[in-house]
Amino acid sequence: MAQGSDILVLENYIDGKFVSSKKYIDSFNPATGKVYCKLPDSTNDEVDAAVQAAKRAFPIWTAWHVEQRSQFLLKLADMIEARLEEFAQAESKDQGSLEVLGSSGILNFYSFSDMTLRCFAVKFSYLLTFPGKTLAQARSCDIPRAVLNFRFFASAVLHYTMQCTQMEHLHCLNYSIRSPIGVAALIIPWNIPLYLLTWKVAPAIALGNTVVVKPSELTSTTAWMLCKVFQEAGLPPGVVNVVMGRGVGAGAALVSHPDVPLISFTGSTATAQEISCNVALLLKHMSLELGGKNPAIVFDDANLEECVHTSILSSFTNQGELCLCTSRIFVQRGIFDKFLKAFVKGAQEWKPGPPDDPNSNMGALISKEHLSKVCGYVERARAEGARVLCGYSVDPPPSLPEQNRGGYFMNATVIIDVKDSSVMMQDDIFGPLTCVVPFDNEDEVVRRANDVRYGLASVVWSRDVNRVHRMAGLLQTGVVWTNCWLVRDLNLPFGGMKASGLGREGAKDSFEFFTEVKTVIVKH
Ligand code: NAD
Repeated sequence: MAQGSDILVLENYIDGKFVSSKKYIDSFNPATGKVYCKLPDSTNDEVDAAVQAAKRAFPIWTAWHVEQRSQFLLKLADMIEARLEEFAQAESKDQGSLEVLGSSGILNFYSFSDMTLRCFAVKFSYLLTFPGKTLAQARSCDIPRAVLNFRFFASAVLHYTMQCTQMEHLHCLNYSIRSPIGVAALIIPWNIPLYLLTWKVAPAIALGNTVVVKPSELTSTTAWMLCKVFQEAGLPPGVVNVVMGRGVGAGAALVSHPDVPLISFTGSTATAQEISCNVALLLKHMSLELGGKNPAIVFDDANLEECVHTSILSSFTNQGELCLCTSRIFVQRGIFDKFLKAFVKGAQEWKPGPPDDPNSNMGALISKEHLSKVCGYVERARAEGARVLCGYSVDPPPSLPEQNRGGYFMNATVIIDVKDSSVMMQDDIFGPLTCVVPFDNEDEVVRRANDVRYGLASVVWSRDVNRVHRMAGLLQTGVVWTNCWLVRDLNLPFGGMKASGLGREGAKDSFEFFTEVKTVIVKH
């Protein structure tokens, strides 16, 4: 680390060493609009140095047996946990979110073991108390989840069994084995930086691969802090390397590097398409977790109070900057007015605000450009005849202190009278806005909910258990929540259909992605 005045200067981590760069990018604190950090604008040579380090480390790391790697991951988890507060502060600042002190948010981790895998589910009931990417959220969710990613995969890798069959008449025994593949490129977005980085790093290295990580140029701080943990823990040099910089620079150089056979990418569909084109001739393994345009469907037998409450969270948590956030709410006509009234009230009470105000519900959007993109969509919807019932104004709340007046804040926005074909109902906007539209029957709502290019997640609200299962079968999304949102068990596959992704990650799915299978036939 280098620290000049009060600006933090990050470095790449290559071959077990922190390395400064020739050029740097300014990183802004979105809650103030001021530069607070500089990060390397890495060149192709720096990317190549990282890939070569990872390539050299691969035979060394694969020679560690799986129990050793598992133990090492547990050690990393403990070390991150011991620095939870440091990581939470940094994550909160990097994403321009709220620094709410004295959290008492309730996070329920259901951790349990069975004979094969340790698994858990996280119930986001704490969001009712501390919504938005607050410091409380980083403390109680994002950083604990990073710890759990290491613990989970440390355990999971020990419990896989291989397939074996016999062909008695031919006196042959067949079995399959899996081996690590080599250097993995891990490309991370800005919205939940450490959480997503560790979701990829943990399985990749647990299974014996080595990696080069490219964090988002907007949020690289916790990736750099994690490298300090790797170094102190004694991870062999080159097993994990981090190169920072722009997508079109360092990111593109990394994914198209000939010595990188696999790419795990989380980010926008447009970037995934660009990467796919750039590497098409190189035939790489790819796992793509992409954008969404997630519907919530509210039937007239839903528990309305719970549904409105959770829909506020699913629409506006983290400023709507979660890939799993809801942005289209279909409400059955009989309860439309009642739902809308309660939902708008909830949205009006959902306040963006200064970092140190415990009454603020959400922080600033990630960047000035992103804020103007989101506002552009609202203007376009208005021009098409839609009505904005609340929110939108980007004027800072009058109570915002002077230091936050340059921040990229926006109010929770609810839009009605919008056509299904409108860009508001079709595009992955990634901001604190949602459209509420009526529907009449099940067939109609399934057709309309599926009528987008994306297919990441959906939420169904109904007390009719038959209908809930029927809807789960019909909705074209990788995840279907019924009467809840954001509850997640890492054992199960995660990913999107259609333009929301290719492949799945999760216990078994990450195992399959980060290893290559081989079939062995033995005649005896
Ligand atoms: P983005 O696609 O702009 O960037 C993601 C990462 O890709 C960044 O690190 C960026 O530097 C890098 N990148 C950009 N161009 C590249 C190129 N040509 N080659 C290689 N790397 C390149 O996405 P973002 O704005 O950081 O994140 C927001 C998007 O991510 C939203 O669309 C959201 O829906 C999606 N997202 C999806 C999930 C999921 O699990 N499905 C999770 C979080 C975010």
